[in-house]
Order: sequence, then C-alpha cells, then structure tokens
Amino acid sequence: MRIVDVRTHVLEAELDEPFGWSFDSTTKRGSCLVEIEVEGGLVGWGECFGPARLNAAVVAAFGKHLIGADAMAHDAIWLTLYNRFRDQGQKGLVVTAISGVDIALWDLKGKILGRPVHQIMGGPLRSRVQAYATGTYRRGSGDPMEYIVDEVRGYVDQGFEAVKLKIGFNVAEDAALIRAVRAAIGKDKGLMLDANHGYDALEAIALGQAVADQDIGWFEEPVVPDDLASYREVRQRQPIPVAGGECEFTRWGFLNVLTTRSIDILQPDTCAAGGLSECKKIADMAAAFGVRYVPHVWGTGIGLAAALQLLAVLPHTPPRHTPREPLLEFDRSEHPFRQAVLASPIEHKNGWVDVPAGPGLGIEVDRTAIQRFTVA
Ligand code: CA
Repeated sequence: MRIVDVRTHVLEAELDEPFGWSFDSTTKRGSCLVEIEVEGGLVGWGECFGPARLNAAVVAAFGKHLIGADAMAHDAIWLTLYNRFRDQGQKGLVVTAISGVDIALWDLKGKILGRPVHQIMGGPLRSRVQAYATGTYRRGSGDPMEYIVDEVRGYVDQGFEAVKLKIGFNVAEDAALIRAVRAAIGKDKGLMLDANHGYDALEAIALGQAVADQDIGWFEEPVVPDDLASYREVRQRQPIPVAGGECEFTRWGFLNVLTTRSIDILQPDTCAAGGLSECKKIADMAAAFGVRYVPHVWGTGIGLAAALQLLAVLPHTPPRHTPREPLLEFDRSEHPFRQAVLASPIEHKNGWVDVPAGPGLGIEVDRTAIQRFTVA
C-alpha cells in the first residue's frame, strides 16, 4: 500500500501549575503527532519526542522520500531517511522525527494486517506490565519536603509498587529528601532516582554513597548524556545501578554505550531513539550485552501505546521460571492532552497496565481532541 499523505499535528496546552526539574521548568506541554495515510484512506499514528514545532519541520522535510513509498516497507523507509540525513542527523531531531514516522508505519502495518504490533513483532512475551509512577517535579512555591512526600504517598495509595524521585538540585538537600520519601513509602516499595543530569561525576558519586542504605532501584541520568566517561566513573565509585538513555539515539549510539559498559539499565525513548523498529534492535543488543532495558516514556497516549507494544516483546533477561519483568514508566505529572487524544484512555489498575490488543498500536485517536489542542 502506497503512502499518499504525511501530516503532522503540533499540539500544545498551558499547565495549571508549571513544574520544574534539575535544569529547566515548563509552563506548557507540547507534542508533535505524525499521521500517515495510505491509498484507500487508512491512517497510522506516531509521536515524536522533543520540541514539537521543530519535529514537525523535520518530518515535513522527509516528505518526498515518503510519498509513494510502500508503507509496509518500514525498515527500508527507516534506512532511506537515516541515510539521507545522517551527515547532520545521527542524534537529536532527525532521529526523533524518524521515530514518529516509524511508529505511524507500524500502526498502519498492524491495521493493514488486522493484528497488534506486538504480534507482528513475534510476541507477546507478556500482556500486561507493572508501572512505576514518575512525578515529584518541583513547584513554583511550597516546601518540596512536604509536597513531594505527600505526592509519593498518593502514588502508593493508588497501588503503585514503585516511584521515581526527581533530584539533581543539591546533594545534601537531595539526600535528605530521598530519606524522607523512603520513610513515607515504607521499605517494601521501589524507589528510583532521576537527576536529569544535574550533577557532575563527583557530586553523583557523593549522592550515591550518601543514600547507599536507602535501597534505591536505579540512579537515572546522574551526569550529562554525552559524557560516558563520567557515567563509568559513577558506576564504579558508588553502589546504585546507573540508568540512562533517553538522550541517546539509534543502534550506533547505544552500541557505544554498551561496548564501553557505561550504563547498567538502558532507557531509550521509543519516540526518540528511532521508533519501534530501532528500539527492538537496541533491546536485542542490550540483551546480548546482558544489560537491562526499561523504556523511557513521556508524551501522549500514542507514545504510551507504542512503549507498551515494545514492552510486550522485550526479551527475558535472564531466562528463569519467574523472570525479571520490565517496568513501564507512567508519567503522573500534569498533561492536559495525554489521555484526551485517545478515544479510550490507557489507565493503570492498581499499578498495572494492559498492553493494547487491537490492531496496530491498539488505540483509537480522538480527532476532536487533536483539533482542540492543535496550535495554528
Ligand atoms: Ca528521566
């Protein structure tokens, strides 16, 4: 089936309450959705991670390579786009834009074949996934020691078995907050840390050593993503497993991470690292290197559905009677159109989320909502 049209939708919405993390803050949410139509009128949907208007411009530049191409040939299309733009596009916006196109093509393929993506990829290995709550962003006012402790108690009340805490502000204050959160959620719940690369290596090592007794699941983005030597230092000089990868791209980027043994837990974003095609390859590479894979997930229900399709086919590492299962990152921070873009929202039940079982990504998009949040 030939591609006849590629459309992008740039969605934005103001937040009721701005929120911040180690190096920035935001007053709004934005997303670039990709809609690809084939002859006969069938459409597939994808999403690009990162600045929405810039992603839309890059997808528009792909146009002549997409129109008229066979929509089923997504690997051929992936390679064509990457090879044409590779010289200036090995990381960042070119690859996030390819990701949205690739996810839309997988959605189309599933709809054409009448099967969910995870079946076409050879799964499922699992039909539901345990979610952890992402939140604990900084507010414009109030004491984080109070409002973040309240927030994580809420996640435990909702049934989440694990929560991720934002740090990367100040080692001593972060360590105090980690202890307060651990005390609030109790010793049986999972607690992970995310510094959003707010530390240098020495600070990250000091933080990891300071909270070594707090049973931390992982220490995410301790340092800037381009500095793998510092990643390795943090791995070697403090005891918490190091996670990262939401700012890394493609099989070649992750090959470098894997061969240098820089990260314990890989976190590629399906809407950023190259889409479903590329992230399946990266996941298989990670398994071959004995490295865990927990996808980074951010954005709307379309990106969430893509992540769930991938989670359904992630290999068991190591294989055993009751294998370790991958976790779903479930963003709980304010997002006016995360679920609104879907006709049926993807929600958790007691901290578990079902993998969508319908054709393609398994979702139906609400066009009225998309129009409502689309910026001119
Ligand atoms: Ca993160």
